[in-house]
Amino acid sequence: MANGHNNNITKMLGLKGFKISDTREEEDAFVIEVQVKPDKTAVCPECNSKDFYRHGKAKPRKVLHTLINGKKVYLEIHGRQRWKCKHCGRTFTQELKIIKPRSRLTNYAEKLVLWLLSSMSFKAISKLLKISYGKAKKILMEAKTIPDLLRSAINDAEKLHLGIDEHSFKHQEMVLIITDVKAKKVLEVLKDDRLATLEAFLSEIPAHKVKEVCIDMKEAFRKAANKLFPEANVVVDHFHVIADANKRMDEARRIEQDVRHKGKVRIPKKIFLIARENLSDRGRQKVDELLKTYPNLKGFYWAKERLRDVYRAKDKDEAAKLLDLIIMNLKASDDAELYRWGNTLKRWRQPILNYFDNKTTNAYTEGCNTKVKMLKRISFGLRNVEVYTKKIMLGFLPPECFHTI
Ligand SMILES: [Zn+2]
Repeated sequence: MANGHNNNITKMLGLKGFKISDTREEEDAFVIEVQVKPDKTAVCPECNSKDFYRHGKAKPRKVLHTLINGKKVYLEIHGRQRWKCKHCGRTFTQELKIIKPRSRLTNYAEKLVLWLLSSMSFKAISKLLKISYGKAKKILMEAKTIPDLLRSAINDAEKLHLGIDEHSFKHQEMVLIITDVKAKKVLEVLKDDRLATLEAFLSEIPAHKVKEVCIDMKEAFRKAANKLFPEANVVVDHFHVIADANKRMDEARRIEQDVRHKGKVRIPKKIFLIARENLSDRGRQKVDELLKTYPNLKGFYWAKERLRDVYRAKDKDEAAKLLDLIIMNLKASDDAELYRWGNTLKRWRQPILNYFDNKTTNAYTEGCNTKVKMLKRISFGLRNVEVYTKKIMLGFLPPECFHTI
């Protein structure tokens, strides 16, 4: 092979400075034999002395390097020098930049593991590369730059429109995802939903950059946003306002059915949750009949539908008028639940209306949670929250980042 070609191939394989002396194919792997060059910078690891004599060569060592066409590619490293220190008598072996001491994987292979982990389960990778779960986990946990790579989007941005959303890691344990909803980037995955954890992260963000913070109707998020970004507008995600309305509607239906009527009637569920404009004439008629039969549900249905009108308003002023009318009516209600709803909407009035400034939503963050659910499915049984959040962060790294990890 011409030398130029050889150089390109060694470069491509991340083996610059090595001499490829042979290659062979085994049943499920390729093996590249490489010869190391003498190292003139070695020092004794025990006493830092440079005064030592040669002590033979180390045995050839076979380490995983990469995959080609689904086949493992091993390096068989030949010619590593062994030395004996004249000063302290320690014998030691030449170290290489391409691999950590005693590792069975080159650094190149470790990057491959990280890249695969961004979309595959530990189990699948263990099987594919014949490495242990423990080793793959160690590689992930030692990749310290992953959070920084995500956070670099904070430095790069002039303005930030933050989105905060939570999902369950297991049972009651929640994990928070923080995104830039306009730039569509994940900035951080927090391993719990404690206010202190959230505030610690948010306080690292230059406050002047934050223009909006989009959240669901969770007081803790709002408090954190107001405290750390007093200049920013808090926007409550419109999807959550409607979802909350639907939840209240359905809860009222359930109470009517199970408590007031002691479960002796069945009040249909779905028809109350479908947007009225999406119902057929027959459907609308049916809802109206049901509301006549169960007048306690009227106020809930009315408020739910009027809230939907708020989001159809042409601007913030019109939305404010519609919202204030809802709040006024709810707060005038005899029904304690409607009254409470009115109070909640009053508390969230400004964040609801702030939506109309930029029509900012948390849809991107929600989408991330959907992707997380997919990652969760393929990583079934991931119990350690540190490993879990790190793996999720990896899943959100831009692909071009992987060579810089
Ligand atoms: Zn020594």
